[in-house]
Amino acid sequence: MAILLLFGGAANAQQKRLYLANDEHTDYMWTGTEAQYDSVMVKMLDYYLDQIDATARRPGKNNPADFQARFNCDGSYWLRVYDKFRTPAQFNRLVAALRSGHISSPLNTLVSTYGAQPTEAVIRGMYYAGQMERRLGVRFPLAVCMENQTLPLGLSSLWAGSGAKYSWRGVCACASRIPNAGFAHRKHQLYRYMGMDGRGVTMKWYNLKTGNKSLGGYAESRQQTKSLDPSVGLNRTIEILTALCDTISEKSAYPYNVAGAFGYGWDDLDTYVSPDFITAAQNGTTPQRKVRVSNEVDFFEDVARTYPKLPSESVSYGNEWDTYCVSMNETSAKVRRATEKLRAAEALASIVSLKNKTFGNNLAALRQKAWDGYGLFWEHDWTADGPVKPKERAEWQIKMQQQVSGYSDSLFNQSLHALGNQLQKATNPRFYVFNPLSWVRNDVADAEYAGSLPVKVVDVSTGKETASQVVIKNGKQYLRIRAEKLPSVGYKVFEIQQGSPAALPQAAAVSGNWFKNAFYRIRLLKSGVISELYDSLANGKQLVKVIDGKYLNDLGINNADEGAPLVLENAGPVSVTLKAVSNFPVLHTVRVTLFKDSPRIEIQDSIQANFSDLKTWAFSFNLTHPTTRHEELGAILTAKNDRNGGHYASQTRTGGPARYDWLTFNHFADLSEANYGVTLSNQDCSFFKLGNSTPDSLWEQSAQLNALAGGQTDGPKLGIPAQNGNGDFLYQFALTTHHAPFDQTAAMKFALEHQNPLVTGRITGENGDPRKTFSLLSVSDPNVLLWSVKPSEEGIKNGLITRFWNLNAKPVKAYVKLSKPLKAAWQTTHVETNEQSLTPVNGTLNAVFNQHQLKTYRLKLK
Ligand SMILES: [Zn+2]
Repeated sequence: MAILLLFGGAANAQQKRLYLANDEHTDYMWTGTEAQYDSVMVKMLDYYLDQIDATARRPGKNNPADFQARFNCDGSYWLRVYDKFRTPAQFNRLVAALRSGHISSPLNTLVSTYGAQPTEAVIRGMYYAGQMERRLGVRFPLAVCMENQTLPLGLSSLWAGSGAKYSWRGVCACASRIPNAGFAHRKHQLYRYMGMDGRGVTMKWYNLKTGNKSLGGYAESRQQTKSLDPSVGLNRTIEILTALCDTISEKSAYPYNVAGAFGYGWDDLDTYVSPDFITAAQNGTTPQRKVRVSNEVDFFEDVARTYPKLPSESVSYGNEWDTYCVSMNETSAKVRRATEKLRAAEALASIVSLKNKTFGNNLAALRQKAWDGYGLFWEHDWTADGPVKPKERAEWQIKMQQQVSGYSDSLFNQSLHALGNQLQKATNPRFYVFNPLSWVRNDVADAEYAGSLPVKVVDVSTGKETASQVVIKNGKQYLRIRAEKLPSVGYKVFEIQQGSPAALPQAAAVSGNWFKNAFYRIRLLKSGVISELYDSLANGKQLVKVIDGKYLNDLGINNADEGAPLVLENAGPVSVTLKAVSNFPVLHTVRVTLFKDSPRIEIQDSIQANFSDLKTWAFSFNLTHPTTRHEELGAILTAKNDRNGGHYASQTRTGGPARYDWLTFNHFADLSEANYGVTLSNQDCSFFKLGNSTPDSLWEQSAQLNALAGGQTDGPKLGIPAQNGNGDFLYQFALTTHHAPFDQTAAMKFALEHQNPLVTGRITGENGDPRKTFSLLSVSDPNVLLWSVKPSEEGIKNGLITRFWNLNAKPVKAYVKLSKPLKAAWQTTHVETNEQSLTPVNGTLNAVFNQHQLKTYRLKLK
């Protein structure tokens, strides 16, 4: 009896539930141009909406739920295009299908690679979907990263923080240095893709055994069949899924009775196969097997109900197609710079908007284009090896970059002037110095000044003169000052007074090619390499060690002394710069700057020539078996195999699917021994390589970091040749040492300070704010950093959006205080959709964070 009952229960549980999801994988600017895709996206949605009407909108005569037409967009751009080219009534029909679950769309704009994206860029690329959520009253629980073989770790948290719950993945297993066998035996095929904050999404990533038009590929339901009849492939897919579900075998690779095959379109421009899916589901359904035409979400909801405890995985797979954007390195670097500049621009705009509620409304269209640019710039077909020619692809990439930069620059300039106009001017010329970061800071500030000299600069809040010097940048005259105690996300007022500044010693002493301040002694050679660097506060420890013939800041020189005589630039009591120009290996310029009272060494590199090979800036350190940590995407990783305590996926015995040569290089990388280390801030490079790491070996203990300056990482057939003809490249680095174990907050703060210079603006207001110092926002926990502050997408009347990153390795509660008491607060997704209303306590926000978590809040001020 007991046996019978058990058997009966098992038989019921063994009903297999199979989900067939149809999507048209979008190869934007690869299979088709913008115009071609705009046209087919609209045409396909028209077709699928008609199919939905014919199977699910006939009261009393509808097909059973499993056999109704469904279609899955692989990016929100489908909705954007449909909204643009169709009438409001037609768009409403699409919205009704989204609401009823007959059409799905993910948060991502289109199919992107992610490894080269700054953390904030990932989020901005989903902003259109966030706007749609609020406008239409829907939520988008899916996000996808498709076809490219690799997947970062931190994307899981960024997705989860943006409201995603589910993702599926299939790879190309083509244009790859990872052996195909590497995709055939994944550790888990259905799992929690989990970030370092403990948040993540449910991921379906199947083993790929027979090619990318089968399970594990990006057109799973299609099948590699000789027949052109879609039903042949779909029927076969059902049999393959049936065999996949194996809850009997002890070592089953897929111990579940719920399975799905997603994706159909493959590289086709468009496909129209709705009835084939419905027929296949109808014919495939038996008493033992249910087959449904899927919207993907239904599959994941079934999984969540049936298998609430899935295994989890928190590893990075490195980068592959992600790296091809360095074939236009300067264009990619411009997007990175614009992203960093947006931080200050939006912080300024926030302050201005609190007084001027309509501020920035004129930039709404530009802003929308910027979010499109973020969503599209890293589109996965940087391979540039398809029907759309590399030249056309390259021009489109520049257009996307300009959309991002255009908004960032416009908002910055407009906000800068507007704030100056809100502050009260005086008889003497005054300027404000603004700190976009959320901690009190001492740093250098450059204020444009065309007036007569000599002058001295006074901190109006203290009445004291501050160290200053005159510098010339791009032919313009600036006053460079040392600004002290700049408030968190705030400003101080300074005044320019006629007269000689107090005599102060030069910030660094220069003698021949030697250069020193209180912190370091540096030898810069004519080729631009730093051959010697002594850390004076660490008993004069020498930091440079030639590795494989390369020094520190080495572009691949032959003779370290080859170059023009060094030039001293802008020497004064605040900073001193030494410049080297050399023709070898290509014409390049190196500027090294040392500062008064600052342990930052700035290294500004640039190349003034076109190149077509792979170039790196090598940084070879005299460190013993250091451990490297680096900002990936919303996560700080240890660059070691997971077997050795790091975050990189161990390769399976068959190789892959991880790739170890080029690691994501966001704000910083840090190489540390137990109690000593070096932090390298990076603004313009997307990747670095440790030592001589290869696709399948990670040099975990290398003391040499090679910052990727540009090139075609996987040979001349993938990416844009010869940097699309560009001959002007900029790379901004900064170095510092620490005489203690690695501290990720210190490393991130160092990098953010370097990459977010203090902002200055002329004060012009007639009836302006008379305050000499102001702080918009402060956070109680020094390890919780403001990541972004901006007026909400729907305007300042809907509050300020604030995003924070808890860099503590433990959960914390932090208090966020604004310049005025809060009247309301919400925790929102990163794309600004409200999730939870919060109650301000005494006008402040009590924010609770998981370890390593990024969180976003909407705050309304009284
Ligand atoms: Zn593709």
